[in-house]
Amino acid sequence: MSITCHNYVGGELVSVKTSQFTPVYNPSRGLIIAQTPESDSHAVNLAVEAAQKALPAWSDTPVIERARIMFRFASLLEKNFDEISQLITREHGKTAEEARGDVRRGIEMVELAGGAPSILMGQTIENVSRGIDGQVQRHPVGVCVGITPFNFPAMVPLWMFPIAIVCGNTFILKPSPKVPLTPLRMAELLTEAGLPPGVFNVVHGGAETVDALLTHPGIAAISFVGSTKVAKYIYETGTTNGKRVQAAGGAKNFMLVMPDADLDAATSQIIGAAFGCSGQRCMAGSVALPVGRAAGPLIERLSEAAGRMNIGPTDTSTAVDMGPVIDSAARDRINSYIGIGLKEGAQLAIDGRAVNLTEPSNGFFVGPTIFDHVSADMQIAREEIFGPVLSVLRMEDLSEAIERANQSAYGNGAVIFTRDGGAARTFARNINCGMVGINVGVPAPMAVFPFTGWNQSFFGDLHIQGSEGFQFYTRNKVVLSRWNDPGKRVLGW
Ligand code: NAD
Repeated sequence: MSITCHNYVGGELVSVKTSQFTPVYNPSRGLIIAQTPESDSHAVNLAVEAAQKALPAWSDTPVIERARIMFRFASLLEKNFDEISQLITREHGKTAEEARGDVRRGIEMVELAGGAPSILMGQTIENVSRGIDGQVQRHPVGVCVGITPFNFPAMVPLWMFPIAIVCGNTFILKPSPKVPLTPLRMAELLTEAGLPPGVFNVVHGGAETVDALLTHPGIAAISFVGSTKVAKYIYETGTTNGKRVQAAGGAKNFMLVMPDADLDAATSQIIGAAFGCSGQRCMAGSVALPVGRAAGPLIERLSEAAGRMNIGPTDTSTAVDMGPVIDSAARDRINSYIGIGLKEGAQLAIDGRAVNLTEPSNGFFVGPTIFDHVSADMQIAREEIFGPVLSVLRMEDLSEAIERANQSAYGNGAVIFTRDGGAARTFARNINCGMVGINVGVPAPMAVFPFTGWNQSFFGDLHIQGSEGFQFYTRNKVVLSRWNDPGKRVLGW
């Protein structure tokens, strides 16, 4: 049965008055399971008012008490781990293992937030001038907003709000309208963990709702994760409206394979990177750059491994290697890119358009697809496809491969497979992107590190996650105090 989602404002579900809805599918079946309303400026105002009302008391709450709520929230996420990961599988289509990864990585962010009392310690210099002590204090910035994509319904929101909240801010999450159920469940768990009403709110919607948030004078900071086009728009509009913005965008990630690499290990890593989550990851490895004699044996191994994958609905089976993509529009876009690649003259080693499923289904499926003999100028080599399509560009040597990868407009991740420390070091030093893997297929940083996209993969100064996340959600105040020694003669202030 299809349900209509409500906003979560001031600790309560609030229905949204609108006639505009986005369908939420179970992508494994192609069936509508819910609908997400579009919040107008009135609905956005209610959420901002609730967040503003909660701000003074919350920012005045000692950090150790705020952290304690994070610990309780983390235990509730653990307690409800199976239920949340099943919800992700249902509304997103990920395999059970991928959905569990989504929740696990998210919990790690909550655990990091629990360390706020140490992380937020400021700096002091005693007697910075005669009789004067100086200190840097870290204060919350105010009401913060998170705008998130469909591909990690738990993890990406959790990149943002635990740190924002533990720093003393209040928060409004605007999740992807395609996956509203997981964020709503997390809102309930936060309340159960003891978070006061209004500290965390959820408003649903798409572009109209985002515009109301971007221009609202009551909002201090915006975190965004999604496609590059929207990231750029959010950054430009948000900063023009006086807000602090961090906006992570799309990507095209390169995987170099040197002739000396352990090809079996590289194959398994590349298969995981290219086809994990059906290629719907900003860290998906979408271009393989085999160097010299690595090409032939690598493509043979990749095609064989991709051909063995079980593709099918994830909602009833855990024995599936790859699930559906998010909706029919995504499936059609990916299929059209496969057509473009063929027109451009690339050779299809594996074609995912006609896929044999583990069971009959009307879901949104594209099988693993591998293009060989791709050249750098082709669209499939340059543009983010966001589906299970791997392009292989054969390279002469390491420097050509690095040069090729560095031509990308994006700059999230790049990896090298090699047994040669010198090649790995040269690669890591010269590659023009923010996250580098050495014999690691998906170099997504753990919670303690920032998620360091470069170029068109990130707009802003302070990245999401890790110490940069804490910097983003706080502002520094320098306090200079003069207290004269009462035993000494005071010459005046
Ligand atoms: P998207 O850009 O379509 O949507 C992201 C968010 O922006 C959603 O909440 C959506 O409702 C909102 N939005 C969409 N169009 C808008 C518009 N015109 N104006 C204002 N808001 C708008 O992205 P998606 O399809 O949900 O997610 C996939 C994209 O996210 C891919 O490009 C992927 O690479 C990227 N992504 C990046 C990272 C990263 O860390 N760099 C992580 C995950 C996903």
